[in-house]
Amino acid sequence: MTDPFDLEHIWHPYTSMLNPLPTFKVKRAYGATIELEDGRTLVDGMSSWWCAIHGYNHSELNQAVTDQLQNMAHIMFGGLTHEPAIELGKLLLKITPPSLDKIFYADSGSVSVEVALKMAVQYWAALHQPEKTNFITTRSGYHGDTWNAMSVCDPVTGMHQIFGTSLPNRIFVPAPQSRFDGEWNPQDIQQLKQQIEQHHHTIAALIIEPIVQGAGGMRFYHPEYLRQAKALCEQYNLLLIFDEIATGFGRTGKMFAWEHAQVEPDIMCIGKGLTGGYMTLSATLTTKQVAETISRGEAGVFMHGPTFMANPLACAVALRSTQLLVEQDWQANIERLEKILAEQLNDLAQLDHVTDVRVLGAIGVVELTSNVDMKTLQQQFVERGIWVRPFGKLVYVMPPYVITDDELHYLLAQMSEVVKNMQGANANVFA
Ligand code: PMP
Repeated sequence: MTDPFDLEHIWHPYTSMLNPLPTFKVKRAYGATIELEDGRTLVDGMSSWWCAIHGYNHSELNQAVTDQLQNMAHIMFGGLTHEPAIELGKLLLKITPPSLDKIFYADSGSVSVEVALKMAVQYWAALHQPEKTNFITTRSGYHGDTWNAMSVCDPVTGMHQIFGTSLPNRIFVPAPQSRFDGEWNPQDIQQLKQQIEQHHHTIAALIIEPIVQGAGGMRFYHPEYLRQAKALCEQYNLLLIFDEIATGFGRTGKMFAWEHAQVEPDIMCIGKGLTGGYMTLSATLTTKQVAETISRGEAGVFMHGPTFMANPLACAVALRSTQLLVEQDWQANIERLEKILAEQLNDLAQLDHVTDVRVLGAIGVVELTSNVDMKTLQQQFVERGIWVRPFGKLVYVMPPYVITDDELHYLLAQMSEVVKNMQGANANVFA
């Protein structure tokens, strides 16, 4: 099934070139459906890793791209500007935390994290505190695969062993343990408090994914953690960076996850769903105070400027995608998905090989006792007509918001059958 050229020559994410995982060739995708080259259709549970919030091949998003194409696909952003970047910026400032005022467009989630980290370092340098260059973060986080983004990912799942001393040493505290829907345990913040007290002179910022730790474990934690973290940042002069790349654009039931805690960051990264999954684009937003401080520093400017910064095609489709979202009753739609996810997944918690089931907004997670064998499990999902890509102990879905009730019921029923069948004769699905 796997294309021979692809198998031989093309690297896929986190894949060996000696023993590559099989890939399924996609012919087209529309709505919440992926159509394979061999004619099979799959109901999509992944939104192409959180991105395709309006589904695939959306007529209005297609139109936004083709309209923009008539004007220009790209133009450099140094010394030039354009309508899509401006209109998108206006809309983003309306839906992000009120204190954020300046927007830096970047190429991908990882790059927006690099930009955020650089902003924090330049900020303290401008305030004549050049020793504040390090970062503190929680375990089980994920912030991207580029060098410095990787340095603040969970040190175990985040490849730190492989890259060893070539990675900068960051300060890690345990992941928040108090569940989003549970009691707040004041112990949860103690390590962060202790480490900040001890090291604040060298720390530029705390970087964290608010409420949902995504690729680092699909964990949902208590909003009080963010409130207390913010208070510590203020007390000890640390900037607070929220990585909302996965959580943004309604996924957790709020437009952005900071709203669950009503805590505003100094710097915020967004990406993924920004373009409705059409193209790669991200943005790093910050306050007037941070931006102006950086600009008063020795360099006088913020030192970043990628070639494809604010690519007009990407900005045009991001504008239309975000308009589409805000123009509809998206909260009611996410509630619809949340209700079905909870109804259909909660029973799986009773299985011996399932340790937890959790649902928040349009995210449903089944955590197992052992790591799964991705290849075998993925094959089984495809045979049942669904696209779900598990990792580690996690089988999870975050479907496109346009998924119909029937499609979502089908997706979850098939996924549940696979999870139920993972015992006994089928135990080879565990790695
Ligand atoms: N931060 C978070 C929270 C993410 O989920 C991701 C992508 N999985 C990134 C950063 C990196 O984004 P990208 O893959 O676009 O570089």
